[in-house]
Amino acid sequence: MNGPPDATVRDVVIIGSGIAGLSAAVYAARADLEPLVLEGPEPGGQLTLTTDIENYLGFPDGIGGMELIENGKEQAERFGAEFTHGTVENATLAERPFELELSDGETLRTRTLIVASGASARWIGADGEDELMGYGLSTCATCDGAFHRGDDVLVIGGGDSAMEEALFLAKFADNVTIVHRREELRASEIMAARARDHDAIEFRWNTELEALHGSREEGVTGATLVSHPDGHPSDKADPDDDIVRETVDVGGVFYAIGHTPNTEFLAGTDVERDERGYLRPRSDAAGRPTTETQVAGVFAAGDGADPRYRQAITAAGTGSMAALDTEAYLETLDQTDAATVEGSL
Ligand SMILES: Cc1cc2nc3c(=O)[nH]c(=O)nc-3n(C[C@H](O)[C@H](O)[C@H](O)COP(=O)(O)OP(=O)(O)OC[C@H]3O[C@@H](n4cnc5c(N)ncnc54)[C@H](O)[C@@H]3O)c2cc1C
Repeated sequence: MNGPPDATVRDVVIIGSGIAGLSAAVYAARADLEPLVLEGPEPGGQLTLTTDIENYLGFPDGIGGMELIENGKEQAERFGAEFTHGTVENATLAERPFELELSDGETLRTRTLIVASGASARWIGADGEDELMGYGLSTCATCDGAFHRGDDVLVIGGGDSAMEEALFLAKFADNVTIVHRREELRASEIMAARARDHDAIEFRWNTELEALHGSREEGVTGATLVSHPDGHPSDKADPDDDIVRETVDVGGVFYAIGHTPNTEFLAGTDVERDERGYLRPRSDAAGRPTTETQVAGVFAAGDGADPRYRQAITAAGTGSMAALDTEAYLETLDQTDAATVEGSL
């Protein structure tokens, strides 16, 4: 029997407080849905790692990553969005309302869910990377390439994305060196050939990045590279065994060793993820893309559903789409509930 609505059940919970989650929160809050935003392990998301953002529309002089995020949070709160620390460990979506288990043991119940948990770029573990990420060390050439006009830069990786990043950077940098730990690339032949044929791109084979040099004031100024004739130098048992260590002067370093979507908590649900873990929202009956996943009432936004563009503006865009889709879904649900109550009277 249908009773009064359960006050402990939220209309919408948004997982993630990056720009996609914030954009969803603004739209959902303005639609009076009183969204709860779970901030997760990285409140504010990836943009908090970077200094200047020059490609986000509306800021002709650029804007700091932290400032953009703080503004977005303030904007969402103004319309009634609530923020809380909380990381989802497990989601039960087979029954309604949905249940989310958080890492602190709390359980949340919600009628709809917007998953905006992002995709984290893989880091290498080189010395200095914690300090210099966003200060000359980057995981996004499209975002930060233009800061490196006339520099020598390194790209770390050997797959298609490393080739793409290198080719993009070669528009700005004087010299781009692709550092790869083996002697063969994983990249497709066509991408590898484009990089090999480019005058400003060279390769360092069987080489790994060991340390970054510089400071937050100066940015990256250099890097220590280690090489071994058989490749994978850091795996060699005897560090003196043919290891060559060299420090090079560079003005920027770009990691291009892949991203890991933060969607593991959806394993075991009916929400479809690709082989890398990216969410795959479905199309509507007319074949147009939506943000709804394979579980009705669960929507996807931001980098966690986007292996391709991974930009602040695209993440914000899909955040707003997910909130609009959520609003429409809740309206249908409310109409169905009302019809059921009427039918049972
Ligand atoms: C150094 C750097 C510089 C960049 N510069 C630019 C730039 O100049 N321009 C540009 O357009 N883009 C830039 N980007 C890319 C941009 O940051 C991303 O495209 C954007 O942040 C994606 O937003 P998102 O909300 O999808 O994910 P994210 O920003 O990754 O946010 C994910 C959120 O989900 C939360 N979360 C994760 N797992 C869970 C969980 N289990 N439970 C609860 N919450 C969870 C996290 O805490 C975080 O709040 C840059 C990225 C980096 C790393």
